Amino acid sequence: MVDAARACAGTRRDGTPCKGQALPSSELCWAHDPASQDRVKAARSAGGKARSKAARADKLMPAAMRPIFGCLLKALLDTRDGTLTPQQGTAMASIAGALVKTYSVGQLEERLAALEEVAQAPVAERRRA
Ligand SMILES: [Zn+2]
Repeated sequence: MVDAARACAGTRRDGTPCKGQALPSSELCWAHDPASQDRVKAARSAGGKARSKAARADKLMPAAMRPIFGCLLKALLDTRDGTLTPQQGTAMASIAGALVKTYSVGQLEERLAALEEVAQAPVAERRRA
């Protein structure tokens, strides 16, 4: 077949047709083609390591940001395996970025207000604190 954008003939774990692009030499995408299973295994193992690093990063993250991080991590994996389209992944990353910026501004405002309060207190009061 000459069509460059043939769809993969494989099925995903949930039984729906794979949306991946078939390899030029196969009717299957790289994730389903038996010839690329070594690379698939390596990619899965890298994903597992990323998840354990994510678990450590999760503990260092402000509680309010944790659900967003979890959601983004799932979106990353879903985009990789074709459950989400790259466009959906990009939209999620963009919205999450806006949420993080809003949260960061709120945090900075709070810290600035605390600093201003200290700076405006009389010197004697500052020394006692
Ligand atoms: Zn496939």
